[in-house]
Amino acid sequence: RLPDGIMECVFCKIIKGELPARIVYEDEDVIAFLDINPVAPGHTLVVPKKHYKNILDAPEEVVAKVFTVAKKIAEASIKALQAKGVNVLTNAEEVAGQVVMHFHVHVIPRYDKNELKF
Ligand code: 5GP
Ligand code: ZN
Repeated sequence: RLPDGIMECVFCKIIKGELPARIVYEDEDVIAFLDINPVAPGHTLVVPKKHYKNILDAPEEVVAKVFTVAKKIAEASIKALQAKGVNVLTNAEEVAGQVVMHFHVHVIPRYDKNELKF
């Protein structure tokens, strides 16, 4: 039985190449692409290729892989985009602001004088 919502999961469609995305990193298990509605330039989503609802639902090794990639992207945003800092965060469940029900970690580069929205 497929997890709830997997048939129309927007991130599964991006992973399958059925929806376009600005992919910034990809390996066997993880993909990272630019957020369609960035809160700051370079806002990236790091996503496991296998569908899990959120960090509570994903196995520890999947969480570890996703955060390892998130760290690389955080470091790259400091070097390549001259960000001064970064937010790395994940929302789990609707009450916490999760909208896309496929586990993802936000990497949000922060610059001098950009407004904090999270
Ligand atoms: P959440 O609140 O679930 O943590 O955040 C979901 C994020 O996914 C939002 O920041 C939203 O802008 C982003 N998003 C939603 N749909 C798409 C899409 O089709 N493509 C991309 N690249 N980002 C999306
Ligand atoms: Zn999915």
